[in-house]
Amino acid sequence: MSTAPIRVTVWHEYVHEKNKPAVAKMYPHGMHVVMKQAIEQTLGNLAVVRTATLEEPEHGLTEQVLAETDVLTWWGHTAHKRVEDAIVDRVHQRVLEGMGLVVLHSGHYSKIFKKLMGTGCGLKWREVGERERLWCVNPGHPIAAGMAKDYFELEHTEMYGELFDIPTPDELIFISWFEGGDVFRSGCVWTRGRGKVFYFRPGHETYPIYYDENVRRVLGNGVKYVAPVTGRSPYSLEAPQIKVPLSPIPTRGV
Ligand code: ZN
Repeated sequence: MSTAPIRVTVWHEYVHEKNKPAVAKMYPHGMHVVMKQAIEQTLGNLAVVRTATLEEPEHGLTEQVLAETDVLTWWGHTAHKRVEDAIVDRVHQRVLEGMGLVVLHSGHYSKIFKKLMGTGCGLKWREVGERERLWCVNPGHPIAAGMAKDYFELEHTEMYGELFDIPTPDELIFISWFEGGDVFRSGCVWTRGRGKVFYFRPGHETYPIYYDENVRRVLGNGVKYVAPVTGRSPYSLEAPQIKVPLSPIPTRGV
């Protein structure tokens, strides 16, 4: 494995901060800036982080930016439909090629997440500021590294509840319990092509979620976990016809 830093692009739709005063107060420079700082805090010089937002040309996700991105993080909510399909296809292709993707909170309904999952990705929700307790159900998992206990809590959150309409995760790291009684698979990993996808639930824009130390560490851990292993892959993701077999096959009668 190379020791080169993980090249991270934090993508954010960056809309609520501009039209909701409460969100602007919580994240005066945008949530993406706080997420960038969280990843830098957790990974130090293991990562170099840049940001990209919806309003930039090509949503900040040009061919060149994506070619130089090992891990992309995605926060979207109100503007999912404004993300151009061509850009979604570009991100999708990069994931299949090996780019890691971290999808956060309301990103469950983003075009890119739904395309990668192949399911509806719906869930229950309620916004009354209830407590969330995230139980780690995979204690040896690198994404859970550094936890002081087998759970952590967020005092005020938006609730997401089951059924979360996703394919069964390849790896399940967190299950959330909510004060109102709902539960949710809140930390999930899937492999798609050569790439890994990590979905992490916390992140509602009106609560200070991305200032929480546990959330910040999991975000950094998640970026590190889905980062591609460098080096040339011996595997083909296409459908090559193998006319000459690895071992000789005796001629058989038909
Ligand atoms: Zn939300």
